[in-house]
Amino acid sequence: MTTVTVTRIDHRPEVALITLDQPGSAANILSDSLFDELENCFEGLQADPEIAGVILFSAKPKIFVAGADLNEIVATLDWPDEKIVQFCERGRRVMAYLSHMHCPTVAAIHGACVGGGLEITLYCDQRIASDDRRTVLGLPEVKLGLVPGWAGTVHLPRLAGIENALDLVTSARLVRANEANQMGFVDHVVPQSDLVERSLAAIDAMNQSDEFKDAREKMEIRTPDPVPDETKEELRSRFEAAIESNQAIFHSAPEIVLAHMLDSCDSSFDEASQSESQAMATVYGSLASYGLLNNFFLGEHNRKNPGHVDQSIAAEPINHVGIIGAGLMGTSIAANNLRRRKTVLLLDAAEDVANQSVQQLAGDGDAEAIKAITNYDDFKDCPLVIESVVETVEVKKIVLQQLESSIDDQTLIATNTSAIPISRMAEFLQRPNRFCGIHFCHPELMALVEVVRGPQTDEQTVASAAGYVRSLGKMPVVVRDSPGFVVNRLLAAMLDQSFRMFAEGHSIAAIDQAMREFGFQGGPFEIIDVIGADTCFYAGRTMWEAGLKCVTLSPILPKMVKTNWLGRKTGIGFYSYPDPQGDAQPNPELIPLIEGYQQHPPVAESDPTEIALKIMSAVVFEASQLLNEQVVADPRDIDLCIINGFSFPAHKGGILFWASQIGLERIVFALDEMAETEPRFGENESLHKMAEQGSAFY
Ligand code: NAD
Repeated sequence: MTTVTVTRIDHRPEVALITLDQPGSAANILSDSLFDELENCFEGLQADPEIAGVILFSAKPKIFVAGADLNEIVATLDWPDEKIVQFCERGRRVMAYLSHMHCPTVAAIHGACVGGGLEITLYCDQRIASDDRRTVLGLPEVKLGLVPGWAGTVHLPRLAGIENALDLVTSARLVRANEANQMGFVDHVVPQSDLVERSLAAIDAMNQSDEFKDAREKMEIRTPDPVPDETKEELRSRFEAAIESNQAIFHSAPEIVLAHMLDSCDSSFDEASQSESQAMATVYGSLASYGLLNNFFLGEHNRKNPGHVDQSIAAEPINHVGIIGAGLMGTSIAANNLRRRKTVLLLDAAEDVANQSVQQLAGDGDAEAIKAITNYDDFKDCPLVIESVVETVEVKKIVLQQLESSIDDQTLIATNTSAIPISRMAEFLQRPNRFCGIHFCHPELMALVEVVRGPQTDEQTVASAAGYVRSLGKMPVVVRDSPGFVVNRLLAAMLDQSFRMFAEGHSIAAIDQAMREFGFQGGPFEIIDVIGADTCFYAGRTMWEAGLKCVTLSPILPKMVKTNWLGRKTGIGFYSYPDPQGDAQPNPELIPLIEGYQQHPPVAESDPTEIALKIMSAVVFEASQLLNEQVVADPRDIDLCIINGFSFPAHKGGILFWASQIGLERIVFALDEMAETEPRFGENESLHKMAEQGSAFY
């Protein structure tokens, strides 16, 4: 079974149509074997002087070409530099048949055309793209810790200008056909049904003269218009600043590709291509490329298997949603539903709060789609009602019972609680089988949503809740009940160990710095200042009351709450914030307030690697407990949760991927040392066993 077929167009038999249709796959992917097929196909066409034009086409409904085969890339990450350079050269050699063909070549693009998929089209004389919203184009390789390797960074500056090219390549941004056309690397945008006819017209026009050959020559041989040095420097500093804000996600690939593109934008095509191969060799096989590729595969895994859920059960359709509580979360959840064209009923104990939210949300879009209500009976027609009131068991009990008595048996009830066990709240209900957690970590910022199945939640409820979350464009991970579920439990383990490191004599600033160096965008105390010391304290207390051992209740948080140093929202916390949106400044009064809680004298100079290793080992310990307790179905669910739920650096591939990379012996060694002050960490038989056997989570 082959991917490539060549046919002649019925009414224009002198034009060859190359159709890509990879068997058994929704996407065409540039694998080693596809390159073989393409080479054979191009050689055959080149040898046929009768052919007056070539159209590159895809039979897939949503994807033109999705890029390189990432399984092949993962299997070759340990290649030496010269093999990586050869890999790039081979791709370029095969694609270059298109720009050396005796006749014009056109890519007729419908669907996602990304990475290597875009690179092959850039070798054609023209690109004609459909105006369909599924047609998106770009070079997002830095998302995988890689850089384009098949002359994408050489063609794009020549076609779209250096500034547009840098924007697309360093940010991994994808653009629709119209924007690509404005930038200059798509020649025409047409309805999907006109793609082939428009391509034929383009071929006819090109065959009128030899101009397309001049354009090829210009692209290949001549140095393009030189970019003045001062422009280069201006672009360098502008893009360096943009790259820095994404460093925690993409790590070093954007920086490397920026340097290569600016240094080679005046070079000949061959020289610039060689420079691109060198850039690829630098990033290929880096720790960040391993981590980011794992991050990609976590998403793929989640799409096929979102955890403890029976995939054979179809989700009930949920397009009309009730929300109780119009605070920060309730309003964000409502906004998310409206964006996905669902209708919403919003109820809050404070009527004016619900009205304000509705006004704000209706102003952004369809005013009919959202309504504030005051009567629980109005929820009767909602297939799902989400409770998102204050995090107090007593209040949630009243709300849930009133709700259940007002709706019919089949309505699904969900809670957005951050930490209260589902089993505890299920006790308040007559129909606990139709009740589950739908924990939005932060609907505006985070893709992850934990769907929490209580001990009595039925399979249909779980399947419907997961399907609903997916329909919002989010990532559902179905987990079993546990205080704090997965995300907040891992976050609690990280914060708890951070307080312990402080007690052992490390400064707040040194701990935050160490975690920034590890790859977090902010350290643990900066994170508390963002969440709020009060929220952290109350959530921690709820988890502690529910018996979670990783929360040991540091006395520092209650002290901060008492002093009303809640973080950014009060302008002062572990740091001070003269400008609420601005950078954190030192809080000069912090030390006098909390130094009494430091059990050891302050450490003169902390080793950031040691601090990060200990904090992260505490998180690995908690993650292994979650696996032992079968709260999650698979180690990949933990990694997905930690990256997409609280911004663990994606380039490390997840906490368990990272632990497997550095070796579990190091984690176990650190935990055994930490057990001297926290004996719990000594109870890590499963980790010990894995370390002794030399096994890992991946
Ligand atoms: P919030 O304080 O901003 O809003 C709570 C709302 O509930 C308020 O508008 C209040 O008037 C309303 N309310 C209180 N009692 C009520 C009652 N009896 N009936 C109807 N409405 C009532 O709180 P929030 O941050 O939106 O949190 C809501 C829930 O979401 C909590 O369970 C919280 O743990 C959870 N959560 C919060 C976050 C976060 O970052 N803030 C993240 C995930 C989950």
